[in-house]
Amino acid sequence: MTSDLATALPNVLVIWPNRPSQMAHLEATYKLHRLDLCSNPEEMIETIGDSITAVVTTGIKGLSSDLIKRLPNLKIVASSGVGYDSIDVALCSELGIRVTNTPDILTDDVADIAIALMLAQRRGIVLGDRWIREGCWAQQGPMPLTSSIRGKRLGVVGLGRIGKAIAARVEPMGVEIAYFGRRPQADTVYDFKPELIDLAHWADILVLACPGGEATHHLINAEVLAALGTNGTLINVARGSVVDQQALIDALTTNSIAGAGLDVFTTEPHDGQAFAGLENVVLYPHHSSGTIETRDAMAQLVVDNLEAHFAGRALLTAIN
Ligand code: NAP
Repeated sequence: MTSDLATALPNVLVIWPNRPSQMAHLEATYKLHRLDLCSNPEEMIETIGDSITAVVTTGIKGLSSDLIKRLPNLKIVASSGVGYDSIDVALCSELGIRVTNTPDILTDDVADIAIALMLAQRRGIVLGDRWIREGCWAQQGPMPLTSSIRGKRLGVVGLGRIGKAIAARVEPMGVEIAYFGRRPQADTVYDFKPELIDLAHWADILVLACPGGEATHHLINAEVLAALGTNGTLINVARGSVVDQQALIDALTTNSIAGAGLDVFTTEPHDGQAFAGLENVVLYPHHSSGTIETRDAMAQLVVDNLEAHFAGRALLTAIN
């Protein structure tokens, strides 16, 4: 009886686990197949691929096109995170597979980290911390002067939920705001720059808050960095793929931009190390949404989307 019941449970493939309490709920509700814990993923997919009707993953881990094709009965991909550039949504749509993400609930935390990276880079927070710890204050006196935020110009690349939340935070700090995107946004008073290069010339601080993927691949190249200029700061909380990373390393090495604050990298986690020798960059390990509150809310939304799917109700946050 118990085993009949167990086999009747929907088979869910876990590529990346949820938070503990949501994981416990998933374990009680579905038959989970833990690819995240599996030592032989090939064998697992070979054995249970046909039975899988749902996948739990994250925007960072995603779901490869190859794997999608090996799950012939897949009906839903519930992903934790806003970005879905790591999931072939076009292929999913073609195969009738629904995809959900977790927008809005992480917006404030991500915007907060964009501001933290901006302040840390422009005001020398990391240097200041070291200045004390390493005894420089006592031996050499005050640390070097930094650059004010007030009166500066901030250019947002991608004025969506996160971009707007960043703008709302810097506006009371006396910062002028303009933005670049595919089109002007209807619900904003900020100046739209149709050319990214013009925004980079205009801005003191360029903040990236657009999606990753092919359309934005290497949007920030050597030319854009040169336009940002020697007093300019680049902040990236979007995706590493948006930036030509070698061009950025070159610009930081030659001081052709003042500095950068990075939460995301081309290949994570290894590429973070590529910046380790540079003093003019502040690094964060793709952790902008990494608070207990937000990760709990994201995990719950994954659970709720799965529940809605299996109950035949409308999905809460569907991408396709
Ligand atoms: P959103 O509301 O969809 O905003 C994305 C913005 O980018 C929109 O204004 C969109 O405008 C613009 N955009 C889309 N395609 C573009 C292109 N090709 N060139 C320039 N602008 C483009 O999404 P969000 O919730 O703010 O999240 C934005 C991104 O932040 C996510 O996709 C993800 O990559 C990243 N993110 C990172 C973290 C982290 O931990 N660091 C966490 C969450 C999200 P139009 O559609 O009008 O063009």
